[in-house]
Amino acid sequence: MIETCPVCDSRKVRVEHRDHAYVEAGLPNIVLTGLPFIVCASCGESSMVIEQPEDLHKRIAQIFAKAQGPLEPGELRFVREYLGLSREAMALSLGVDVSTVSRWESGKRDAPLMAAKLMRLDLKAKLSREGTIKVSRSQLEAPPGPRSGNAAVWLLELTKPGPGKRAAHWTQPCIALP
Ligand SMILES: [Zn+2]
Repeated sequence: MIETCPVCDSRKVRVEHRDHAYVEAGLPNIVLTGLPFIVCASCGESSMVIEQPEDLHKRIAQIFAKAQGPLEPGELRFVREYLGLSREAMALSLGVDVSTVSRWESGKRDAPLMAAKLMRLDLKAKLSREGTIKVSRSQLEAPPGPRSGNAAVWLLELTKPGPGKRAAHWTQPCIALP
């Protein structure tokens, strides 16, 4: 864990662990439990620390690959980007106009279930090619809780970084959970 504020380099920081909805990735229904924040006494900023973003994003992708039902706008965008597809490429593969994909991702129009199903097939193919991360029950829960649209709220416990792995830092305002 770093000992300085990533915003102002002050050393007057403390670490707080919070449950945090992953809005930075457009995923308000993915709640990262016990996420460390560096809270700075000098500039007042709270900076979230995600130790292994690739690992986290793969685990989130695994959740979306297994889930049923439609994908929320932010989830659709996350999956598209995880697959490495541009909006144009996704529109082409789904046989729709690129403006339609934009409307799905901005929430102006609901994406049809078929779009989510086709995205999931791509996602499952990618995950089976690249290998998945074993997620124990204690690390992942889908409790009944606040919901947005059809999506479940997922609690995801973060894994600790291995030796030599670098942490990624975001300096976004923190969203308090209800
Ligand atoms: Zn600071």
